[in-house]
Amino acid sequence: MLEKIHDKKRILFLKNIHKTYTQGNNRINVLRGVDLSVRAGEMIAIMGSSGSGKSTLLNILGLLDDYDQGEYMLDGEFMGKMSETKAAALRNRHLGFIFQSFHLIPFKTAQENVALPLFFRKVSRKKRNQQAMEHLERLGMAPWANHFPNELSGGQKQRVAIARAIITNPTVVLADEPTGALDNDTSLGVMKVFKQINTRGITLIVITHEKQIAAMTDRILYLSEGIIKKSRIKD
Ligand code: ADP
Ligand code: MG
Repeated sequence: MLEKIHDKKRILFLKNIHKTYTQGNNRINVLRGVDLSVRAGEMIAIMGSSGSGKSTLLNILGLLDDYDQGEYMLDGEFMGKMSETKAAALRNRHLGFIFQSFHLIPFKTAQENVALPLFFRKVSRKKRNQQAMEHLERLGMAPWANHFPNELSGGQKQRVAIARAIITNPTVVLADEPTGALDNDTSLGVMKVFKQINTRGITLIVITHEKQIAAMTDRILYLSEGIIKKSRIKD
């Protein structure tokens, strides 16, 4: 098990981030000066109404989208304008992603889906299958290793997606409404898995509009009118 290392280190830092989209003749100022500081090992929820810019913010943190103005530091390094190759390398080194709709590859088994990121790291077939199996086992998914995504329930699919996100041992996992497609009990089960991987030292940012889900994190941020309005440290 990983230890909670660099506990006090600031792993994510945003200052005055602005992001505008153009839709036809309209310009939408989605982010209007977002400040955010996240320490390594924290588990944070981001809440906000639909359209408030939560996914935009997560995509910026995930180096999937750029921003117009401001500063972004990831693990002590400034993230400015960069090539897609550089962004891909940084994502590969630091980040894991979880989506509401799982984004599993339908014609690959659970184990193959989990092993895929290691293929891109040129890990041998034997090693990547072995590691994928270990991750599936930890999440109680070993019996489903040879099943295809359409043979799995929503909660099981999300466990496979979580295993795939953490197999590269990322610094930060970004989850965009990971329980949005799941029923209540299944959502709580998935959050317990998040807690488990957070305890192993992975920093977690979870977007949700469910209070009960947000309450399971260390800190809740509210995005409204393009800025982070409130940040509440739980007692
Ligand atoms: P949330 O995730 O909080 O629901 P989003 O970040 O998805 O919000 O979207 C915020 C706003 O930005 C919405 O008004 C949306 O229509 C707009 N938007 C998001 N992505 C794009 C895009 N690629 N092009 C144009 N407008 C976008
Ligand atoms: Mg969204």
